[in-house]
Amino acid sequence: MENPLYKENLVDSTFSYFDEKENVGFKNAIENMVLDYLADEQINSPASTEQLAKCFGFKRVPEEGQLAETLIQELEELILPHSVNTGSPYFIGHMTSLLPNFLRPLSQLITTLNQNSVKVETAKAATFYEKQALAMLHKEIYGYSDEYYKNLVGDPSKISGVVTSGGTIANLMALQCGRDISLAPYGDVEEDGIYSVLNSAGFTKSVVLGTHLGHYSLVKAMGLLGMGRSGYIQIGTDDQQRLKVRELRCQLERCRQEKIHVAAIVGIAGTTECGSFDPLDEMADLAEEFGVYFHVDAAWGGALMFSDEHKHLLKGVKRADSVTIDGHKQLYLPMGIGVLLFKTPEKAKHVSTEADYIIRKNSQDLGRVSIEGSRPAKVFYLQAALKLFGKSGYSEILDGCISVARNLSHYIDQSSEFELLTTPQSNIFLYRYLPTALRDMKSSEEREQAINDFNIRLQEAQKHRGKTFVSRTKFMSPKINESLVALRVVIANPLSSLDHCKEVLRDQLQLARELEKSI
Ligand SMILES: *Cc1c(COP(=O)(O)O)cnc(C)c1O
Repeated sequence: MENPLYKENLVDSTFSYFDEKENVGFKNAIENMVLDYLADEQINSPASTEQLAKCFGFKRVPEEGQLAETLIQELEELILPHSVNTGSPYFIGHMTSLLPNFLRPLSQLITTLNQNSVKVETAKAATFYEKQALAMLHKEIYGYSDEYYKNLVGDPSKISGVVTSGGTIANLMALQCGRDISLAPYGDVEEDGIYSVLNSAGFTKSVVLGTHLGHYSLVKAMGLLGMGRSGYIQIGTDDQQRLKVRELRCQLERCRQEKIHVAAIVGIAGTTECGSFDPLDEMADLAEEFGVYFHVDAAWGGALMFSDEHKHLLKGVKRADSVTIDGHKQLYLPMGIGVLLFKTPEKAKHVSTEADYIIRKNSQDLGRVSIEGSRPAKVFYLQAALKLFGKSGYSEILDGCISVARNLSHYIDQSSEFELLTTPQSNIFLYRYLPTALRDMKSSEEREQAINDFNIRLQEAQKHRGKTFVSRTKFMSPKINESLVALRVVIANPLSSLDHCKEVLRDQLQLARELEKSI
């Protein structure tokens, strides 16, 4: 393959699309790489992270452009063999998974159009495409009358939500909204800062209430928003890993008595750790009673709005002031897209900003209501998936994954080698391996420690072998009140059948026997 960068005419040959034929070799090489990658079943390379880090020594920016071949070679030899095959049906431990194939050509379209969704002047149709997609999701969650949505896209004052780079930014904006709206009667937090507003209102501090299963993005947001990470107050969970409503009431009463400001209550619809759903309806009751902002983090579970069988888990979500839904989780979109939906457009006003040179007041500029600036028109992916799958397509995918997760959990529950730690409300659950010698022993600190150590080694060994994968976390067992090392299953790949999953367990059992022999 020739270097596409003709030295005598670098600008023309690299920037003119019509000269792209010069780059055919480059294009084909990438396409072949993609096909080879898709055909490879290995999930993980045997290289340790330490070994791999050594392959990436210091390099200078080359004085002269390199041959395209050199770059291809680098990708082929160093990057692809050590990338993680997140699309494998045996990779059942993370929320990152296989994508629908119709999205790949769209990435080319997005790169070619290179719209910047921050403002209409750089993203004309994409602006309305985004508003339309947000309204579609808003309708599914909040279900306002068709009349409400009729003129929404054309009306700059009507904002149903904001597209973000993921759940973290969506949660950050939600808590910003909760903080600013709830403190608005006392002052303007954005303008004067939280200290002065809390002070003048006579509050000692500002907190957010949610469970310990809340995603760490919430805690990070607390730090950024000036409420402090310790301001995230953890409410206990029941034996189904759902927020205890009675405890939430106690905390709300305590805060009221002690002059502590509550910026928001957060309900989780699909916890990252074990896929549990908080009792949103009852939480909404309390939010109303105490006049507190209610946010639902449905980054993982929001997609269940499309499933007739499972949407009951989201009951009460429409009473939330804002809702986070990740596109790159169960909407099956590529990395880097999430949404925050607002119950009413007024919520958005509290976090919107204007800047004369770029984001004009009352304009249709999407950048008015985002803390992000320049961003790609990822809405193309969202629109394509919503329209090509439809509700029935999503429902088929999601119901299938949940059914596999539940069947696998029954299978584990009945085996003597494994112990099921949580029952899946959706498609995530925790379990652990019980080493032969400890299986029939009564629970004690030593026994649990030994089982914990073994499960860490087992998960590491499985990852190292690289044929199958589950992830690992810590789980506070309500039964024995100990922190346990847990193996975590996430069934997100629609191609992962129960047979694939059983194969993952067989791989694990074989490794466990080898480990037991070596002890
Ligand atoms: C993944 C996740 C987030 C964070 O989203 P990112 O897209 O990783 O930023 C927040 N909350 C929950 C429940 C999640 O599962």
